[in-house]
Amino acid sequence: MTTIAANLQAVRERIAMGCAAAGRHADEVHLLAVSKTWPAPDLRELFSCGQSAFGESYVQEALPKQDQLADLALDWHFIGPLQSNKTRTVAERFAWVHSIERLKIAERLSAQRPPELPPLNVCLQVNVSGEASKSGCAPADLGDLAHAIAALPHLRLRGLMAIPEPTDDPQLQRSRFATLRGLRDELNAAGLQLDTLSMGMSHDLEAAIMEGASIVRIGTALFGERH
Ligand SMILES: *Cc1c(COP(=O)(O)O)cnc(C)c1O
Repeated sequence: MTTIAANLQAVRERIAMGCAAAGRHADEVHLLAVSKTWPAPDLRELFSCGQSAFGESYVQEALPKQDQLADLALDWHFIGPLQSNKTRTVAERFAWVHSIERLKIAERLSAQRPPELPPLNVCLQVNVSGEASKSGCAPADLGDLAHAIAALPHLRLRGLMAIPEPTDDPQLQRSRFATLRGLRDELNAAGLQLDTLSMGMSHDLEAAIMEGASIVRIGTALFGERH
């Protein structure tokens, strides 16, 4: 077995064990393979092992890979910082965006989503780490932003995403993820129907699954250390 195939198997086992520990079904947690910095043949290999969802953080890097892999039925997720001048490309070339922080970006994505494609699935990125993080909308702004985005015609607001500050403390990991879950529950109580919590990376996927993650975004544990 190749390294990538063995890594995929190990990550799937971690997800299965995490689900068992959390009393959840393994099919409630989807694996997003974060392929930033890795070349198209590595993605092709993961696809041959059954992995079809890939996350990219940089538009310029993603486009040539998408072209090289156009023969495969892949689901492309954009997970990086998104500037206004890149929204058209993302609206045309991706199925999901996890990293929405501002209404203006969401409005552009909705306006630029090609009408022949299904609505773009989006998550709102929330800052659950306070001063320790600079990205994501503030929890206090979330309600207004979520309702405004849910009303946009060519987007489908699926849920929330967070990148908490890195820590090895499992209690702190869980408390950040629990914050995101609580915010999702509040929005659903206010009438939204959010089915997605995008949270958990290579070092903290177990804590995220404990707190209800539905998509874990895994790079290093699949492909190796990025250079
Ligand atoms: C790079 C990245 C990941 C993957 O992180 P690993 O620690 O390599 O698993 C997940 N989410 C986002 C937003 C990223 O930029």
